[in-house]
Amino acid sequence: MEFPEFDGRVIKPNNADYQEECYQYASSSYLDDGIIQPAAIIKAANENDVIKAINYARDNGIAVAVRTGGHQYSGASSTNGKNIQLDLSQTYMYKDPVKDFENFKWNNPDCTSVTVGVSFTLGEFNAKLREKNRFVPHGQCQYVNLGGHIQTGGYGQLARSFGLLSDYVEKFRIITVYDKVTKARWVYKDYKDMSEDEKKDITEDENNDLFFAVLGGSPGNFGVLTHVTLHVFKDQDYPNSRGLRAAYPFDRQRLKDLLDIMVNKMVDDDEFPADYDYCISVLDEPPFTTYEITYDMKYDRKEGQPQVTWPPMIVIFVQWANLQGDKQTYDSTFIDSILEAAGGKDQGIIQVSDKECTPLSTLTGHWIVPITREFKLPYFKRTYSSNASSQRLREFKWTDWVSDRIEEGCSGSVNALSSQIEAQGSNLSAQFQHFGGSRSRFYQNGNNSPTSFSWRDTRLGCTLDAFYYSYQQDVAKNWVKKNDDEGVGNSDARFCEDDRRVLWGSHDLDLSAAHRYYYDSEEKYDRLCNIKQTFDPSGVFTPNRFCIGLEPEVPSAEKRKIKPLLSAEDKFWKMASMESKVGKPVPLWNTWRA
Ligand SMILES: Cc1cc2nc3c(=O)[nH]c(=O)nc-3n(C[C@H](O)[C@H](O)[C@H](O)COP(=O)(O)OP(=O)(O)OC[C@H]3O[C@@H](n4cnc5c(N)ncnc54)[C@H](O)[C@@H]3O)c2cc1C
Repeated sequence: MEFPEFDGRVIKPNNADYQEECYQYASSSYLDDGIIQPAAIIKAANENDVIKAINYARDNGIAVAVRTGGHQYSGASSTNGKNIQLDLSQTYMYKDPVKDFENFKWNNPDCTSVTVGVSFTLGEFNAKLREKNRFVPHGQCQYVNLGGHIQTGGYGQLARSFGLLSDYVEKFRIITVYDKVTKARWVYKDYKDMSEDEKKDITEDENNDLFFAVLGGSPGNFGVLTHVTLHVFKDQDYPNSRGLRAAYPFDRQRLKDLLDIMVNKMVDDDEFPADYDYCISVLDEPPFTTYEITYDMKYDRKEGQPQVTWPPMIVIFVQWANLQGDKQTYDSTFIDSILEAAGGKDQGIIQVSDKECTPLSTLTGHWIVPITREFKLPYFKRTYSSNASSQRLREFKWTDWVSDRIEEGCSGSVNALSSQIEAQGSNLSAQFQHFGGSRSRFYQNGNNSPTSFSWRDTRLGCTLDAFYYSYQQDVAKNWVKKNDDEGVGNSDARFCEDDRRVLWGSHDLDLSAAHRYYYDSEEKYDRLCNIKQTFDPSGVFTPNRFCIGLEPEVPSAEKRKIKPLLSAEDKFWKMASMESKVGKPVPLWNTWRA
């Protein structure tokens, strides 16, 4: 079959901008694997293009990788060989209220139900809801798109108080290739809500299977998601809500004290109120600067992105959601204890304060990080989940261990005589969040859920990512390996006896071989494989090894320059007092909405 004509642009390897168009978040980390090299990238201009691409793949025995925001950590939204990539970044957008009205619409006068196209970034979607003082839980990266995010959960700062974004899906629209017929259909959370006409197309079991599999099963493996209808929340029901966002210089003891609160107050108390969400982020880097021009520096050029800089720092996000409404009064004891552990108010920069009420639709904007990637570097990524008790975490001294790991992970030294770097650290990004307790909605929504997200008994989430310049690759790899060996997956592990992973934080390309880490039961995995077999029997949506149900050196440094070392404390305050100048980087905290 001849390659069809598309309304949108098609980019092939012989096009001058092929590498640029292939570029996505995982590109630099998997260059040597050659997995992000589709035979063609089809930038679908409309749904007709989507259908044509799917049918072309179906009739030619090749596969389609679906990419909307391109944020999949291990490149699963791309492909290679003869397979093609369908790029939906512009297809279901809301640019023109008349032309694109299907891609954003309120479904009821109360504005508690909204239908939205998948090409929205989280930043755009969040801002659109705020126009009506509405919000919903979701993740914290401005440029992640709804296309993938809906299917991988939407884990974020409202996880304890509200659960996952995907918990609020009422229905979604998906294009499948079922019985060789390419067709769009709506799939409902509750089959009873379907019209009689819609029911003619799909049985109740098929509907429930697709709902279960698409939300949490394995993104992009069942069809092309185009729209989703979500239940959203009103600010006015939570009138006293509070938040805290504060940045502090990185310090090992400060981090440990902040983590101790998470373990000793939150994990320890199974009844801890669901109003509270608490997350700690760390951005750290070794005390050297290099002048290597990286792949990401060349290609990560999203328009309108600020050029940011940061010293080694800890950012604290805390929220009190006021779940019981106007009769509930705010008690600042918990947040005060966090501020005290951080070293007091004047030791850092407080940008959102719990001393005044802030609507939740504003807070959800405050929690979004406004950059495409932490470092313009390749990475080794890990997001671990733990259901360990506070007693176990204390017994294995997890907070000490992980604070040491971070301090060690970025330390380096310079030989004064030769000016050579003797031990190189890497650039670290870490995040710690409490999800659990019997009152947590992350936990509660997981009971009898029609979705397939795993590990809803998670108490703590811990992300430990190492980004590296070429000369740091081995150090970064060894740092992550030690975290794996000591942190998870054995009876003496500091964080969790089991190795439990979230699909959105994937790091193993072979999903089948690694499935026990991602799915919390074999029964669930088998059911998902069967659904995959039913809805994608010819493998149209099986473009790579990170698909469910299958069998089981980076560029050299160009130049390095060593700068005098500054302590994290000095670097932090130097940047805090930096003058802002056009064309110069701004501190990360100044790019957040205040
Ligand atoms: C910097 C960064 C920060 C992140 N922060 C968070 C966070 O705070 N919380 C959180 O929960 N997650 C987070 N994630 C993970 C992210 O939410 C998921 O990877 C999400 O699936 C990305 O969606 P996407 O459309 O942007 O990416 P893509 O790479 O385009 O897609 C991700 C997956 O979904 C599939 N897919 C995408 N669009 C469609 C579609 N329309 N139809 C069918 N399949 C599709 C793809 O094939 C791929 O497998 C983060 C990722 C990054 C890189």
